[in-house]
Amino acid sequence: MKTIGFIGGMSWESSAQYYRIVNQEVRARLGGAHSAKSLMWSMDFGEIERLQHSGNWAALSDEMTHAAQNVERGGADFIVICTNTMHWMADEVAAAVSIPLLHIADPTATKIKGAGLTRIGLLGTAFTMEQDFYKGRLAQKFGLDVLVPDDEDRKTVHRIIYTELVAGRIEDASREAYRAVIRRLVDNGAQAIVLGCTEIMLLISAADSPVPLFDTTEIHALAAVDFALA
Ligand code: GLU
Repeated sequence: MKTIGFIGGMSWESSAQYYRIVNQEVRARLGGAHSAKSLMWSMDFGEIERLQHSGNWAALSDEMTHAAQNVERGGADFIVICTNTMHWMADEVAAAVSIPLLHIADPTATKIKGAGLTRIGLLGTAFTMEQDFYKGRLAQKFGLDVLVPDDEDRKTVHRIIYTELVAGRIEDASREAYRAVIRRLVDNGAQAIVLGCTEIMLLISAADSPVPLFDTTEIHALAAVDFALA
């Protein structure tokens, strides 16, 4: 079994889900007392969030490459970044180490295409919904047609992530707000919804959507197990 090198803490609420999923999955596949081999470099999300909102992506890139080098030095065989947003600097991270990086968008897109779907609605932070690093990869590498919510809905989705979900707050009113955003994406033609932020699965489940959901946390964690056991 290979050792997973997680870069986590963004937020720890979702990193804890990665840790749970990989360990449950390895036990399910190998049985007995088996569990996943892993190590995690866990950030202080207060510092990360401040740098994100002040637009200091150069400093964030330094933090991420430093983290990747540390997990490589610690013995990891590959890297798993436990957030969609911080894949903004995935190329820099991959270039800073000699072990592979398992990009979160790739197993997600593969699963969507495997389900025969092409037009998806993307929920995530404003960075993920608005910048090209994520939407562009889904479109150019996988040929997916990516819809994002309108301005006001993007603000709502972003605010709930940063003021509630990363702090472990799960509010019914916010679930209702997300359900309404999902309905509007479906009305605009989305055949499926990508939960493109690793905390959204704490708030939203299949019952909240009229179309299939693709949860990047679960898909990425399971892809890490596939890679570790291959
Ligand atoms: N975990 C979130 C994501 O998947 C947001 C936190 C972050 O900015 O890293 O994008």
